[in-house]
Amino acid sequence: MFKKILIANRGEIALRIQRACREMGIKSVVVYSEADREAKYVKLADEAVCIGPAASALSYLNMPAIISTAEVTDAEAIHPGYGFLSENANFAERVERSGFVFIGPTPEAIRTMGDKVAAKQAMIKAGVPCVPGSEDALPDDPKESIRQARAIGYPVIIKAAGGGGGRGMRVVHTEAALIHAVQTTRAEAGAAFGNPSVYMEKFLENPRHIEIQVLADEHKNAVWLGERDCSMQRRHQKIIEEAPAPGIARRLIEKVGERCTAACKRIGYRGAGTFEFLFEGGEFYFIEMNTRVQVEHPVTELVTGIDIVQMQIRIAAGEKLPFTQRNIQVRGHAIECRINAEDPYKFTPSPGRITMWHAPGGPGVRVDSHAYTNYFVPPHYDSMIGKIIVHGDNRNQALARMRIALSETVVEGILTNIPLHRELMVDAKFIEGGTSIHYLEGWMGQRKH
Ligand code: ADP
Repeated sequence: MFKKILIANRGEIALRIQRACREMGIKSVVVYSEADREAKYVKLADEAVCIGPAASALSYLNMPAIISTAEVTDAEAIHPGYGFLSENANFAERVERSGFVFIGPTPEAIRTMGDKVAAKQAMIKAGVPCVPGSEDALPDDPKESIRQARAIGYPVIIKAAGGGGGRGMRVVHTEAALIHAVQTTRAEAGAAFGNPSVYMEKFLENPRHIEIQVLADEHKNAVWLGERDCSMQRRHQKIIEEAPAPGIARRLIEKVGERCTAACKRIGYRGAGTFEFLFEGGEFYFIEMNTRVQVEHPVTELVTGIDIVQMQIRIAAGEKLPFTQRNIQVRGHAIECRINAEDPYKFTPSPGRITMWHAPGGPGVRVDSHAYTNYFVPPHYDSMIGKIIVHGDNRNQALARMRIALSETVVEGILTNIPLHRELMVDAKFIEGGTSIHYLEGWMGQRKH
């Protein structure tokens, strides 16, 4: 096992990785920007090194600074967390070429999955169900786009092969709008992702977002740890996640879970990963794979009892998975609310000093957050300041525990989306379960404020 790991991230996930390291007796090196000097995990680290100013491009995305910090501190492995460099194949390659272990999949796997066209082709080969659509990037020929859209049937969605973060997509309802949409998406994709390739898919009108968590080692073992329902989204950003997904037949989930582990073995996948699907009319449609730990991993940890971050570290150290699919059991129900420093009605960011922070507790309640009273939320990064995650014997108990947890939580000095979560936890449709990815935005449109 490693003696020392460098954590190339910030905020709650840096603290989460650090906790895993401490439990495993591994020393942690934290890199931080000038804006994160005061953070709790920086103080708790065995070693902490400032790698640059607040701007991410000069700190958390600064590959030479991160790798040279690993060199001077004698770290053996680098955990990238999520966001920042976590899905950057060039970074993974540079880490490995410099003689360190990248805690994640191989650079080749990251590269394949980072190109959505290549990812989809790999999934089709592995028998994973995909959204009907073009098998290749669209050629620069309007006739061909028109032909494909007719074959798929309108509405279609034009997506950037290199897209991410919910950007680089355009829905097209009629043939008249098609060519302009392809051209605009292509131009935007070239500018935003440095890759002008676009492809076309059937646009699903009212799907749910269901994803499968997998773990795979380098000895050809792979397991899936159940599913998560992440349909509560605003502008393609998830805000509530839960496991298991309410109201979906187990045999349907098992079938798709088995396909995911088969795909992992086929592509030689290593580490933790997530297969994201849209679910509509009783069918699963693969949309993309995330080759890293996800924000919502704790709901899976609570229902399976498996520490996903510790497993990432064990796999990176070359260990075999300590269990097989038969040992994996999903127990009870878990729900996560992402706490964002933002106006709960207008959604504008609300950075600044937290004058009062009181976290909830009690049976089945977990809080993953680096925040505390007097912590200053810097304006330079994502607005998520933590997560409240609850576990119960069933969904009703989990909902009740989340309502209590949210009622106990106090955050003063900045605005947060906690009022939004409080409202959603008593919303009749959410309580019923199984709402689509459009539900939250529709609900917000009708909210009286
Ligand atoms: P990103 O990498 O930017 O997150 P995804 O491919 O995961 O892109 O898509 C993000 C979101 O866009 C999905 O969660 C879904 O809401 C919507 N979306 C993507 N593809 C389709 C589709 N074929 N039909 C309907 N909605 C889609």
